Amino acid sequence: IEEREGGEIVFSGDKINSAGYDGPLWPFLKQRMQSHGVRTAFVNPYDREEFSYARVLSVVERLARGLRKLGLREGKSLCILAPNSVENALLILATMSAGGVLHAINPASMTDEIRRQLDLTEAGFIVTVQQFLAPVQQAVSGSNVRVIIIGQRNGILNYSDLLTLGSDDVTLPTTFGDPGNSVAAILFSSGTTGVPKGVEITQRNMRAWIHIFSMVEGGTMQADDVVLLFLPFFHVYGQVVTLLTSLATGCKIVVMEKFDMLDFLSFAARYKSSVLFLVPPVVIGMLNFPKLSDYDLSSVRFAVCGAAPLGKDTEAQFIRTMGVPCLQGYGMTENMVAGLTSLNKYKAGSCGFPLPNMEFKIVDSERNRCLGVKQAGDLYMRGPMTMRGYLKNPQATTNTIDSKGWLNTGDVGLFDSDGFLYIVDRKKELIKYKGEQVPPAVLEDVLLNHPGIADACVVGRPDPVAGELPMAFVVTAPGHTLTAQQVQDFVAKNVPSFMQLRGGVEFREQIPKSPSGKILRRLLRDELKQKVIAK
Ligand code: AMP
Repeated sequence: IEEREGGEIVFSGDKINSAGYDGPLWPFLKQRMQSHGVRTAFVNPYDREEFSYARVLSVVERLARGLRKLGLREGKSLCILAPNSVENALLILATMSAGGVLHAINPASMTDEIRRQLDLTEAGFIVTVQQFLAPVQQAVSGSNVRVIIIGQRNGILNYSDLLTLGSDDVTLPTTFGDPGNSVAAILFSSGTTGVPKGVEITQRNMRAWIHIFSMVEGGTMQADDVVLLFLPFFHVYGQVVTLLTSLATGCKIVVMEKFDMLDFLSFAARYKSSVLFLVPPVVIGMLNFPKLSDYDLSSVRFAVCGAAPLGKDTEAQFIRTMGVPCLQGYGMTENMVAGLTSLNKYKAGSCGFPLPNMEFKIVDSERNRCLGVKQAGDLYMRGPMTMRGYLKNPQATTNTIDSKGWLNTGDVGLFDSDGFLYIVDRKKELIKYKGEQVPPAVLEDVLLNHPGIADACVVGRPDPVAGELPMAFVVTAPGHTLTAQQVQDFVAKNVPSFMQLRGGVEFREQIPKSPSGKILRRLLRDELKQKVIAK
């Protein structure tokens, strides 16, 4: 903790030399991966195929040559809309090697959202699988975006074609532009307000995270760790935090297509998983799973939990049941991970201490002043992992990152006197359902398209398992009658499953608004919280 000029109180991590991450991403990651030789990098647990680091690098460069041949270039995007798989991971790496920009999108997205994102990122290619081909083809119809399929060809360019194309002599880039400015990946997040925006993650952001993670005091992952990975590659937690870090460290990564408790536990036992990357609903699911003790999880050294708040009691119960530490990470797409607990630097309920070269401040926004220890306020952060900005959205960027580089997290946090961070509330609109982002603005937009709805406000209803359930307050238009079920059905038809109004619908005479017409979301959220407490 440090008091600076102008009353700024800053909580910072260890200061380290930035030389470890001042350079392009791919040569750094490649060199790390090369050093792991013929050790296993990936396992496909469904067909049990294993891929060594050496093989991964050779396939990645072949795919990269195939992509270059098709026209992927520096600054141009390739979109991946597919469940996790080894092929998906290899294409992520191939995009980096080819010098392109990876745009990863939630495969559950509806056609309009896919089209909107592709327009924004100007992706020249979209990689998908048979299961999602129909919405992808609809989204790209009339455009020049080329579809690449992982799996059966069906007349479409596929993964094997890329490998064939890549057997030709195509030169791969050796320079990668200015790492601090050139975007490696675009992942979507709604940030503090509105609809999902493209978060520009630079090469330096990613390299800094990988480097900084390896410097964390107190111990985390090691080369002989086996990582079971079900977190989606379209989210920063799955892609950068888990996948890239594990590769750089030299771990064996067991790639799950999606989360399934039985698969998860049997793969963990079969491959003697030593590190589990989790989200709170999975932690709760494990604790409530009656047959947990049937699985031999004795290989697990520790778990990491992030993406949403983990209750202190749940954390304690997990530690008791599993007999291993449960580290917590705090971050957001716009800054990857910013705080983390480690094996020897740990406090229950805390989501960590500031990572090296990260700075935080807690602000009392009403009085416009910085707060000290044990005082909760608006959490701001800045550091080498802070995004460049929102793609083609300077307004949203300046609303989120101020002129001094401070990123407004939209969370309410506090630091204790030992420098541990606690997230006490979320002030921004964002709802997190099982760790997935549900932006209320998207649901409100859908609701307002219903002729029988005059006004609507969506908030998160606290839920012990999912974290929050999206719930709508609705004002019926004059002359219309509606039931909650009708509203839920209408929404269900227009949004992916994880965004559905599982928290229910309540009818109101009006939605509370400020004099300037802004929805007073907080009033409704607090009302819901009170109801939960009263229960
Ligand atoms: P995302 O961009 O999807 O990663 O969402 C980021 C948001 O998730 C943060 O701003 C927090 O509101 C929430 N979040 C992430 N990690 C934690 C954590 N460890 N504790 C509490 N909230 C968290």
